[in-house]
This record gives sequence, C-alpha cells and structure tokens, in this order.
Amino acid sequence: MTQLELAKEGTISPQMESVAQREGVEAEFIRQGVANGTIVIPANIKRTNLIPCGIGQGLRTKVNANIGTSSDYGDIDTELEKLRVAIDAGADAVMDLSTGGDISAIRQAIIAASSVPIGTVPIYQAGIKAIDRHGAIVKMSVDDLFASIEEHIVDGVDFITVHCGVTLSAVARLKQQGRVADVVSRGGAFLIGWMFHNECENPLYEQYDRLLELAREFDVTLSLGDGMRPGSLADATDHAQIEELLVIGELVERAQQAGVQAMVEGPGHLPLNQIEANVQLEKSICKGAPFYVLGPLVTDIGAGYDHITGAIGGAVAAAAGTDFLCYVTPAEHLSLPDPEDVRQGVIASCIAAHAGDIAKGVKGAEQWDRKMSIARKRRDWEEQAKLALDPERSKRVHSKQHISAGSACSMCGKFCAMELVEEYLGISATKC
Ligand code: SF4
Repeated sequence: MTQLELAKEGTISPQMESVAQREGVEAEFIRQGVANGTIVIPANIKRTNLIPCGIGQGLRTKVNANIGTSSDYGDIDTELEKLRVAIDAGADAVMDLSTGGDISAIRQAIIAASSVPIGTVPIYQAGIKAIDRHGAIVKMSVDDLFASIEEHIVDGVDFITVHCGVTLSAVARLKQQGRVADVVSRGGAFLIGWMFHNECENPLYEQYDRLLELAREFDVTLSLGDGMRPGSLADATDHAQIEELLVIGELVERAQQAGVQAMVEGPGHLPLNQIEANVQLEKSICKGAPFYVLGPLVTDIGAGYDHITGAIGGAVAAAAGTDFLCYVTPAEHLSLPDPEDVRQGVIASCIAAHAGDIAKGVKGAEQWDRKMSIARKRRDWEEQAKLALDPERSKRVHSKQHISAGSACSMCGKFCAMELVEEYLGISATKC
C-alpha cells in the first residue's frame, strides 16, 4: 500500500512517524495531511537509505536543489560532489536533471549516495534516447516515454516531474495569446514539439491512468510539472499558465483517488505582487496539494545573482503558503551550476524558506531567531556560528578581522552598542 492508501485507512506508517518526529508534530497530524492530500512523503518503496521528508501544509518549508549533467558536462564525480554539498548546505530534496553522460548510472549513483528524496524528469532521458536512436525527440514513441518513466521508478526515485497538464488546448491558447519568452520548461518544450509533430494529445495526459499505475506500484509521488510556467515577468499568470493549472487540479484529484501522492509545480518568473495570488490559485484549484515553486524569480535582470532574485520570491511564496522551494543558483540562465553555485543556491533558498516559516508560524522557527539574537547580544560568537545557516562562513567572516579588546566584533569595535548598553544600563542578555 502507498503512504496515501495507508493514511486513508487510518494507519500511521513508520515514514509518517519519522516525519512527525523531525517536524515536532503529532504523527496523527501527518497521517491526516497525507490522507487529505495536503502533505506528501516522497518515498519510493525501493529506497533503503532514505530519511523520510514530509512536504506540505503545517510543515517546515522544504528546499530542493537541482543537480545533474548537461550534454557538454557529464562527470559523475562532480554530480556526487554537488549532491554532498547540497545536503550539507541544508537541501531537503535533490533532483537529478542529468541530460549528458551515462544518465542511468549517474541517477543510480545519486540514489545510492542520498539520504534525501530524489526526484527526476524522465522525459529528458526518453527524449535523449530518441535523438540517439531515431535522430529526433519528436520520433520518441509513447512506449519509449513510459519505459523511461518505469526505469526511473524502478531505480528508486521518490518523485518524478511529469508535465501532464501541457494539453493541446493549453498549447493552442499559448499560440493564440503569444508570449515574450514562449516556453522555458525543457520537459514542456519536448512535449510541445512532440505533440505538434505527431499531431497527438500529450501522452502523459491521455494515458494518465497508465502513469498512475506505475507510480502507485512503487509509491512514487507525482510532481505535476508546469510546462507552461512563465519564463519572463511579462508572461506571468497568463491564459496558458492558468489553463494548465486547471488541468493539473483535475489530475491531482485523479491521482489521489488512485492512491498516488501528488504535488504541483509552479512558476517561474513572477512579479512580487502576483506571488500571493498564484499561491492562492494553486491551493484553491488543487485542493491544498503541496505547492512546489521554481524560485520564483521576481525580476528578469538579476543574472549572476539569481539565487537572490529567487530567494526574494521564495520568501514571499513561502509566507503565502508555498510548501516547497526549488532553489535557484547564481548560475541560473548562464551556465550549469558548479558545487559552489549549488551551495550558494541552497543557502539562499533555506533563508527564504525560514523567513516564510516565521511568517507562517511554523513550530520552532521564531525560537531559532530568538536564540540567535540572545547569542548576538552576549557576543557569543561560537553559539552564533552554530545557529547560523552557514556556520563555516559565519566563523570565517567573524575571524577575518580582530579587535584589540572586548568581546565586540570589528564592525563598531569599542563603540559596540551591545557592550555600551550592558555597561551603562546594566541590561544583560542573561536576563533574556
Ligand atoms: S560591534 Fe557592532 S556589530 Fe559587532 S557585536 Fe557589537 S554592536 Fe554588533
């Protein structure tokens, strides 16, 4: 039975227990969330090294890091290093988006080395195989696509992105309205090309029951991909994006009826003032299914700093109820991220997720900040480093410059406000 089926029949699984313990909530709360589809626990039954992670309403906002090779860079050791860096920096899940090298071997190595849930986008590999075998993605057969999905599932991936909502009708709407950046989702673009060339409906939509059967067998969570996500602020919240979301809303319900866990992917590039509305739309149309946003990026001009652009959007999205943030790295729009880009991207998204958690009132979030403030007031540099999201960097920056006397840092030196107040007003952090 899947986590969803167990939850629906009233059973608390070991995975639900584990998630409850890590979140500091009752196991029954997790069971109820899984049963009503507002929480997912991506946990393929084949995984042996997974620490289960809950994503959804009432839980800490989670962060995903995308790693993976490209057609020009296909080194397995680098990807394993990115995985290690991502988990060390605080990623709750990792997606392997490899499109180069030995894709199957890379995926298997990542699964074997990971304690966090692993997601993939199987259509990438299906499309690449179609190019190798038949010379073009559009020559991929429907069976090839499903064979790739099955291979990923059997290997043990915990969630798969499937762009089931890219229907002929949504594509027609896209063509009719026009866009500045057209389609920026790779999976969405593969499918649209295939649909036009073959004059057929999206097989992931048309044969959705076949997909559900495969996912159910291994308890793989569907991440219903947003092939129509805006890749430019100018395209945000347009007809094509909303039409796809309406279809996804129906598919979420069908997944849940079939005992398959589902979450919903979202934008993309969104102006700040549209983020909350996008979260509300998803929550309403998809009956509270966990929302997994890519960024969102709040401006198109942050190249080189898009981990910041994404973190600004991520914080607003998380505060508005988004459950899962896909990180953005400084390399976004420019190149394949290296391990340092991965580290910076994860930290930026973790800051965004935590800022959202404080606003959402997630258990323990506010207390963490309070502890940091007390340590700051005490000039307890060791404790501050421990409480920082990036302890190493905190230590490194603090020890860069020394001061001649006192416990302050080099920012204000002998004019340290904390020291002065303590000395003259007798207000000490010990009273906090
Ligand atoms: S010197 Fe300034 S920045 Fe440093 S601990 Fe004191 S008040 Fe804070």
